[in-house]
Amino acid sequence: MAIYLDNAATTQLDPRVLEAMLPYLSDSYGNPSSTHSHGRAARNAVETARKTVAEILNVSAGEIYFTSGGTEADNTFMRGAVSESGVDHIITSKIEHPAILQTAEYLESAFGTKISYVNLDSKGGIDYLNLAELASKDHNTLITLMHANNEIGNLLDLQRVSGIAAHENVLFHTDAVQTIGHMPIDLSNGEIHGLSASAHKFHGPKGHGFMFVKKGIKIEQFIKGGSQERSMRGGTESVHGIVGTAEALRIANESIEENYQHLTELKSRMISLLIEAIPGVQFNGYSADIDQSNSKVLSVSLPPSEKNDLLLFTLDLNGISASGGSACASGSTVGSHVLTELGVDPARQAIRFSFCKNNTLAEIEQTVGKLKEILDV
Ligand code: PLP
Repeated sequence: MAIYLDNAATTQLDPRVLEAMLPYLSDSYGNPSSTHSHGRAARNAVETARKTVAEILNVSAGEIYFTSGGTEADNTFMRGAVSESGVDHIITSKIEHPAILQTAEYLESAFGTKISYVNLDSKGGIDYLNLAELASKDHNTLITLMHANNEIGNLLDLQRVSGIAAHENVLFHTDAVQTIGHMPIDLSNGEIHGLSASAHKFHGPKGHGFMFVKKGIKIEQFIKGGSQERSMRGGTESVHGIVGTAEALRIANESIEENYQHLTELKSRMISLLIEAIPGVQFNGYSADIDQSNSKVLSVSLPPSEKNDLLLFTLDLNGISASGGSACASGSTVGSHVLTELGVDPARQAIRFSFCKNNTLAEIEQTVGKLKEILDV
């Protein structure tokens, strides 16, 4: 029986989401820009989806833009803030997703945007005093920090960062790709100006997501073309994908507390089983600290062993899917920039296990048992 523990990389499409999408891949094939009945039905589906997403985040529908996922949303907000809102300074961290890091590098080289990297503690936690100091500099600043790290699960204190941003009158964007649909997020206090989300991380379709842009924040039209997405993103809307995104978020939100408890139970059990089974096991970042990390991610650091090299491969042969690095580096042999930044000993093997509502305690027990057997400890 296959065990899938790579839910930070992607999740299985919920069958109810597929159901909701199917009509827009068959009979309801209208173009939302057409004014006839076929078009109006498609437009209605897109705008209903937008309303669903907006209601869950407690914002207005006009603040939601559908995108091709988290990468596009990250790129768009950062680039838009520089070109339209006069941002000339971006504060971020060295352990953000490449969608943020590479966009920051691009903005620095193309527009001379100053990039500051906030200090981190030895486990990758944000130094909030340093953040406040950086934000107080005489610049038009955007803070962009992820809500939960995709590799080590560290959680950001959104309220604290919002407070700093409000105090210093700077913009705050968060990449919430790993937490939307897993943790309640209410944007109604207006202190977060931008947010990125990706549907395939909460049992929705791949290649879809959305961006929240607070009313009044100016960002550039991100794809030039037709008047879709209120003239911000040209191109015929992916109606089925948008419908699937909203339905996935609706379903996730319905059981958000229950799922969170379930994932916390799976993670806690895995931590104690690993400590029992594998002498010298450690955990990267704050991943084993239940209160300071995403319930979905456990980043395990295994002691040096000649068995480590083939470990992920052997787990895979045994039907267990996990990741050795970041979601986007899944299956690649390139080292993780996050673990490198944390100074993790390269001789230790990192494995990221990431959970979803469909995983069971029995799967966790089997995985740890198999790991112990492979490592022969
Ligand atoms: N941001 C984070 C934190 C992620 O984990 C990912 C994907 O792994 C992305 C952004 C990119 O999202 P997408 O795959 O929707 O482009």
